[in-house]
Amino acid sequence: MHELSIAQSLLAIVLDEARRHQVNKVTKVAVKIGALAGVVPSSLTFSFDLIKEGTKAAEAELVIEQAPAVGECHTCEGEIDMSRLVEQCPHCGSKDIEFTGGQELYVDHIEAE
Ligand SMILES: [Zn+2]
Repeated sequence: MHELSIAQSLLAIVLDEARRHQVNKVTKVAVKIGALAGVVPSSLTFSFDLIKEGTKAAEAELVIEQAPAVGECHTCEGEIDMSRLVEQCPHCGSKDIEFTGGQELYVDHIEAE
């Protein structure tokens, strides 16, 4: 299960931070996940809740913020909605476009006591 390994790396980052800042209890973990990252939020929450038991993050709530799939046109610099397959810029028709968001997957911030 893909989400389980992601949850494990997220938890490792969280516990590492907790150790570095000498906190006793992590209360919230906010992660940012792009729409194209291929992660099912409910599966990730489920996996995280399973593995956090017995750690400093046992009571932490996983908050997932989804980032939209967006791109940019190099010709007119317009922003493009990439949530569907796009081959050219809807503003000027250029094919010189690239993804600028949607694939991110990282811990945005952590709250602790
Ligand atoms: Zn354009």
